[in-house]
Amino acid sequence: MLKRTIYVSEAQANLAGKEVIVNGWVHRIREHGEGLTFINVRDRSGVVQVIVNDKSPSQVRQTAKGLKNEYCIGVRGIVRKRDDSLINKDMITGEVEIEASEIEVFSTCDTLPFAISDDKTQAKEDLRLKYRYLDLRSGKMKDNLILRTRFVTAIRKHLDSKGFLEIETPTLIRSTPEGARDFLVPSRLYEGKFYSLPQSPQLYKQLLMVSGLDRYYQVARCYRDEDARGDRQLEFTQLDLEMSFADREDVLSLMEGLFKDVFKEVVNYDLPDKFVRIPYADAMNSYGCDKPDLRFDCRISDFSEELKASSFEKAKAVVCNGGFAKAIRLPLLDKSKPYSRKQLEEYLEEAKIYKNKTGFFLKAEKEGNGLALSGSAAKFFDAGQQAAIISKFALEEGDALLVVADEKWKAACAQAGSMRSRMGAQLGLTQGKGFAFCWIVDFPLFSYNEELGHWEAEHHMFSRPKKEHMEYLDTDPGKVLGDLYDLVLNGYEVASGSVRINEIELQEKIFEICNYSKERAQKAFGFLLEAFRYGAPPHAGIAPGIDRMCMIIQNETSIKEVIAFPKNTFAVSPMDESPSEVSEEQLRELHLIIDAKERK
Ligand code: ASP
Repeated sequence: MLKRTIYVSEAQANLAGKEVIVNGWVHRIREHGEGLTFINVRDRSGVVQVIVNDKSPSQVRQTAKGLKNEYCIGVRGIVRKRDDSLINKDMITGEVEIEASEIEVFSTCDTLPFAISDDKTQAKEDLRLKYRYLDLRSGKMKDNLILRTRFVTAIRKHLDSKGFLEIETPTLIRSTPEGARDFLVPSRLYEGKFYSLPQSPQLYKQLLMVSGLDRYYQVARCYRDEDARGDRQLEFTQLDLEMSFADREDVLSLMEGLFKDVFKEVVNYDLPDKFVRIPYADAMNSYGCDKPDLRFDCRISDFSEELKASSFEKAKAVVCNGGFAKAIRLPLLDKSKPYSRKQLEEYLEEAKIYKNKTGFFLKAEKEGNGLALSGSAAKFFDAGQQAAIISKFALEEGDALLVVADEKWKAACAQAGSMRSRMGAQLGLTQGKGFAFCWIVDFPLFSYNEELGHWEAEHHMFSRPKKEHMEYLDTDPGKVLGDLYDLVLNGYEVASGSVRINEIELQEKIFEICNYSKERAQKAFGFLLEAFRYGAPPHAGIAPGIDRMCMIIQNETSIKEVIAFPKNTFAVSPMDESPSEVSEEQLRELHLIIDAKERK
């Protein structure tokens, strides 16, 4: 076998005159007549041009004639510097070519289901996933996976330098309620019993703290049996991390140092030493969500007082009855293209996803020497009120003010937030803005599940209430803020974590608030409560999503693009056709019978 002496990208001018061997795939072939053939050979590192001409040995000329795209080959040859006029600046190996003296065909290639692209194939997703091994040959997909490796390696390097231990936790565990649905694995040895796949190693990492291992991390696979919705995968990878004798500040600054280091190393990007910290309530009020995209400013403001003073009875009633009104300025960036009614209504449509009923726009137009408001709702604000609105929101000619009102605070914020997001995308405010991290802190610890009629943990039940809010645990759980934090990058939540509870009494209290009776809690989490009896240290942790972060770094819009073998949107793998039926024998061994009715 012709065994590689260099990766193709190493074919550079400094090797001119030297003999090398490259291994790879035929990327393109161009016949130039008179026995001159150019063969672009591709390997993981890039592409190099191999040249065969009428002076080449006959074996080489003969073999070259039979080559087709994606044949897997080895080439021996001499690196030649190209004439200055033939240098190809678009190729990393464009200063040279390899003059072939021997070609070995390792394997041929059938007609391809789609062409292998320098960037990404245009084929439909299911075809890409069916032939994922070919899809991954294309330039961008290969780069995505290489970036991912480098990202994880840089993380490991940093955490190692901070004294963290990489410890594996089991993937066959007890089914414990953690928010989503568990994947269950039937036990062959114990009829009627099941393991579950971890939704995250949460309890195990806390137990490792009780063990005194002090600083743990793991590049952990997590499994959640959720319905196909948005950009979700049944299994995903997170950097799971926990540290003892640590508070919020320790975790936040560890992460800031980690990502500063990793982004510098992996994409040569300078992050600030500290990331902005925004309390949850402020994030909702100013950005309309708890994962604000801070690549652009455009903040949301309160509009309740303005509505109360207006004669817009329908909208006014919402705020007068305890509701909330929010407004956001839509700047007119291109003065030559004023906003049409339709465009502004499309923004308001955005808010309708949140069942919005009361939304309207006001537009600043020239009137005399000054500005006045136009739009169907403008008549409800007198001249003085209009002037005050124009001044408060710093409206310039052609700018619009988008207003929503809702009985519920969260809904009003979310509606304004959805318009802010549209603004960022439509006005191109996020383009070329790099990476904007922020922390969202001080989340409510509980949310009320109207359907079930009880409180639930916002994050999970192991998070600590803020010290100053302990008193509300008994009286008003809705008022309790938790020592919780989310890391947000470019409008995506990329990590969440918390300071944990390490005392049995407090843990039991949280279970109780979340409708877990003593017996139910004991059954589900008894082993954790038991562990807390043996000197559990104060501890805190976090779990950044590896897939999501790599997706953002690579400027992709789906995590599938940074996962080697993802499932499709319907949770199916078109390549191996999983999930699949299994044999009767396998089912018998597992003591399972498939209900024929269910099967239909
Ligand atoms: N286990 C949590 C999660 O997967 C993260 C954490 O609290 O560390 O979301």
